[in-house]
Amino acid sequence: MNTFGCIRLKRIYFKTFFIAACVFLLIFYMKRLSGHIGNEIDLIPEELKRFELELQEYEKGIMPLLGENGEAANLNGVDRVNGEAALKKVALNTVLSDRVPLNRTLKDPRHRKCREFKYKTTLKASVIIIFYNELLSAVLRTIWSVILQSPANLLREIILVNDASTDDKLNGLLQYYLDTRLKGHDIKLFHLKHRMGLIRARLHGARAASGDVLIFLDAHCEATKEWIEPLIARIEEERTAVLVPIIDVIEANNLAYSTNGDSYQLGGFTWSGHFTWIDMQKDSDKLTLTPVKSPTMAGGLFAIDRKYFWEIGSYDEQMDGWGGENLEMSFRIWQCGGRLETVPCSRVGHIFRDFHPYSFPDNKDTHGINTARLAHVWMDDYKRLFFMYQPTLEDNPMIGDLAHRKQLRQKLRCKSFKWYLENVYPEKFVPDENVYAHGQVKTKNEMCLDDLQLGDDKVGPLGVYMCHDFLAMTQYFSLSFKGELRKENHCAEAFSNFNVQLTECHSHKREQFWKYFPENRTLYNPSFRKCLSSEGVKNSGGLKLDFCKKKGYQEWTFTHLNLTAF
Ligand code: UDP
Ligand code: MN
Repeated sequence: MNTFGCIRLKRIYFKTFFIAACVFLLIFYMKRLSGHIGNEIDLIPEELKRFELELQEYEKGIMPLLGENGEAANLNGVDRVNGEAALKKVALNTVLSDRVPLNRTLKDPRHRKCREFKYKTTLKASVIIIFYNELLSAVLRTIWSVILQSPANLLREIILVNDASTDDKLNGLLQYYLDTRLKGHDIKLFHLKHRMGLIRARLHGARAASGDVLIFLDAHCEATKEWIEPLIARIEEERTAVLVPIIDVIEANNLAYSTNGDSYQLGGFTWSGHFTWIDMQKDSDKLTLTPVKSPTMAGGLFAIDRKYFWEIGSYDEQMDGWGGENLEMSFRIWQCGGRLETVPCSRVGHIFRDFHPYSFPDNKDTHGINTARLAHVWMDDYKRLFFMYQPTLEDNPMIGDLAHRKQLRQKLRCKSFKWYLENVYPEKFVPDENVYAHGQVKTKNEMCLDDLQLGDDKVGPLGVYMCHDFLAMTQYFSLSFKGELRKENHCAEAFSNFNVQLTECHSHKREQFWKYFPENRTLYNPSFRKCLSSEGVKNSGGLKLDFCKKKGYQEWTFTHLNLTAF
């Protein structure tokens, strides 16, 4: 080779080296700009060493067979005591979670027929997991389960969004874990500078995602066998279907993966703006294994076509903290032409905690405020029912501006809330529609019918309490055209000892059937041929049936009486 040739070759080498270096730097800075902080490069060797030691210490504490197959796990001695204390403090046995393998095995919880289904899939999913001060081992177990239970060709990436956690482990150590223990998997970790709340944190994740399908998970979940295939396959078939797996319970005290057998639940709501579960009867012919339409979703776990997520209005970005976004999205999807479905052959476990282990900025009732926003935008006249529960929120400036969301509803030409109730959730009881009477129900001595603060899914006595001079929801009852004396899902039921209890409405009349006589204001129970009576019942006492005597104690006056209906 002559000198000229040699110089040329050197130049080519130099050029290639120079370009490669530029590309490397460019990629590095783009990653940083997009929030993907590559700690491996930032960390000083001492820190790396410290993380490695910390992880090794942690890994030593793992007990290989604990919680295997999703069985309940138990600890002894100090660990047991500390675990119980943690459960009280943060609603999760964190000591146990740290001992259970991160990649533990789980039984296949599905109905056996699900195993015969074959799914055609070509789309890829981005799984988005957001967290604020979650336990590192719970977050890692969520990640591991996604990796282990999803075929690589269906998983584009896992996106983690740290909603400005103050717990240090979720910053450096988590990134170190990903870099060293999960190398080779496409996992992107974003750290938000300020706490943005779960709605905006999920939006951040969604913006960064590139998969065809977005799957959102809470940071304390465990996916099971073939969980992802039916979700993706259904979206491939129907891109406007938004899907929820069956959400099984991972017990917060012993991490047992527990199921309800083959029966499952759909999503409902209360007029006070809360999500509820609707039990599907085991013998019901609705208990199919193909996707079933669901009026609402719980919110933490769902799959949606990525483009459709944006078309249909993603989330209400002005919703803060936690809560309300799930009903907002449920109503919006149905009213604006989409579908919400539960997929019985996809199952994911979730740790249900008894309380939030975290507080909210300024202690705001973000659930209430967010629900007020969605009530104004989506519920039309029916918002009156929500604001009966939350009168102070109706015109509260804390709700913020709604113009954008109202515009969205117009742009998408969404249907009315009445349409939603009639077509999607016809079973939902509307307390002031199709009723003979509703409101406060007064009897003698300024006493009123009262649910005595009965919790949402409990059974308890129907009682009386001093009438409130404001609209108290504990004293709001309806007498339906079906003859039920009810509030939401609780109906007054007479028992053979003549006690009257509030129990779950069953719509078979019988002991839950009442007749009201406007002329003498008695509430008559034909099954026992007796009348509801407050005779001898003190403030906060439970009511009984008695022989009909047409006396003041047996007179009940509703605030609103629909006389033409009788
Ligand atoms: N979360 C968040 N920022 C917050 C509050 C919650 O990122 O300000 C996360 C939380 O870590 C969890 C998810 O949002 O992964 C849902 O919250 P949580 O599990 O507490 O709700 P729940 O399941 O009780 O409805
Ligand atoms: Mn959760």
